[in-house]
Amino acid sequence: MGRDIRTVGVIGLGTMGAGIAEVFARSGLRVVAAEIDEAAVERGRSTLTGSLERAVSRGRLEAADRDAALERVDFAVGLDALADVDLVVEAAPERLDLKRRLFADLDRICRPEAILATNTSSLSVTEIAVATRRPGQVLGMHFFNPAPVMKLVEVIHTVVTDREVVTAVQELCARLGKTAVTVGDRAGFVANALLFGYLNDAVAMYEGGHASREDIDAAMRVGAGLPMGPLTLLDLIGLDTAYEILETLYRRGGRDRRHAPAPLLRQLVTAGMLGRKTGRGFYPYDTSGPAPETGAGSAPGESVAARAVATVGVVDHQAAAQALAAGGYEVVTATRDALAPVAVADLVIAAADDVEAARALFAELDGRCRPGAVLASATPRVPVIECAMATGRPSDVVGMAVHRGALVEVVHTVHTSPEALATARAVATGADLTAVTCADRAGFIVDALLLPHLNDAVRMVEVGYATADDVDAAMRLGCGYPVGPIGQLDAIGLQSVRDGLRAIYRQRRDPSVAPAALLEHLATAGQPLSGSAAG
Ligand code: NAD
Repeated sequence: MGRDIRTVGVIGLGTMGAGIAEVFARSGLRVVAAEIDEAAVERGRSTLTGSLERAVSRGRLEAADRDAALERVDFAVGLDALADVDLVVEAAPERLDLKRRLFADLDRICRPEAILATNTSSLSVTEIAVATRRPGQVLGMHFFNPAPVMKLVEVIHTVVTDREVVTAVQELCARLGKTAVTVGDRAGFVANALLFGYLNDAVAMYEGGHASREDIDAAMRVGAGLPMGPLTLLDLIGLDTAYEILETLYRRGGRDRRHAPAPLLRQLVTAGMLGRKTGRGFYPYDTSGPAPETGAGSAPGESVAARAVATVGVVDHQAAAQALAAGGYEVVTATRDALAPVAVADLVIAAADDVEAARALFAELDGRCRPGAVLASATPRVPVIECAMATGRPSDVVGMAVHRGALVEVVHTVHTSPEALATARAVATGADLTAVTCADRAGFIVDALLLPHLNDAVRMVEVGYATADDVDAAMRLGCGYPVGPIGQLDAIGLQSVRDGLRAIYRQRRDPSVAPAALLEHLATAGQPLSGSAAG
């Protein structure tokens, strides 16, 4: 039996509901938009009207189409007006008791054949479905913020959702110009299950004083190519919402420690610092009050004079040599078997595959380089302190990891002198690269946050929850990633990701960051993930 969806109900016209109502109305469907009282209806109406006005003023919508879209929306207080709709999308607050009550009411009010959908981010669609006598007609329709812009809808079927109901909603998504990714009912679905472990890791990193909030955000934007830094993104999502989602992921997702909300998140929520919407979160937005003191102070070495650097030596690292030469430095290159050229350098950046090779290389460099030259290790999976202790000048040893030819992570150990750190930063910024500073921890900033995130994506494919294509589509179309995590993994190289994860695991001993078995196997086999049988 084909289903003809012409009239839809939307419950709750807050951040998400107003945008969802707009999407339907602009696609030619009639909409009944229900809120809790008159004041909420008026707020919802003005959000929707404002958004349509912006679309017209930006030339994305004709004035006549704006009027037609508005004409298609009826506003109502309470659920009774939803009696005749073909489909309802519920976008009320993220509370299971509330949603179960709403669905029991909808079950009584709506026509028996109406489809009931929830926009929940993390709650169990199954638990919501069984509050009705029609669980076969209940599913998740998870839009992304802002709904009129983001192209993804996650369609969530439970074990009892009727096949033809899923098909009807997939077809509807296509009519709305959205891409549907259809998956089963698992905590966080695809996008949030992958996103929130990474976001929580970033909070823990900041809370631990590993790097400043600005440096963590800059590292992930510039060094990992993500559209927004994790702490900025959390402020946008709202820290209360993020906290609730993490709690649910932790409870429903197997009590993975990486989903246990970082204590700082709870503190900020309790203090009412919920992000953009309250004017303060990790960053201040409302400049009338003092900025919150929430973590790492200024990086060591920021107020100290750098040593003069005329010549940079680079050992076995073409990308670093190119980035520094493009930035105007005189660069001399060498290989570990022929180190003579770097004897004249004021700063040497050297890459070694593992700890043993790094120790040998830095001992050799120490013997060849002139006193006062700064020695920098470029490999995030090798502890910088190991390189430092292989030399007679541990205070002159730093880490300098170059990412995407645009970012340099400048890493200090417990021995690094402020002058050496300032010198490394000055070389990076002097070459027009973005410099961030962090402590000596496996993966520095970028790899420490990115590799476990990519590994989570592999695990999701491995257990058969979503295909590699669906994972990539979800993160591109729902979160604005330029390349999905599986595509990014293949671009970095599976062996390199695996080796990086092994180093991070050795340090953290957290099983959730150990390389996924599928990653281990494909890395060993030298196969990419996107074309693999599992993908
Ligand atoms: P919100 O707080 O901005 O809006 C919720 C709206 O529901 C409010 O306007 C409120 O008045 C209304 N409401 C409350 N009880 C109601 C009732 N009984 N009947 C009708 N309306 C009622 O919340 P939001 O951020 O829009 O989130 C809504 C849902 O969408 C949640 O399940 C959330 O997890 C999900 N979601 C949120 C985002 C996001 O980025 N904020 C993204 C995707 C999904």
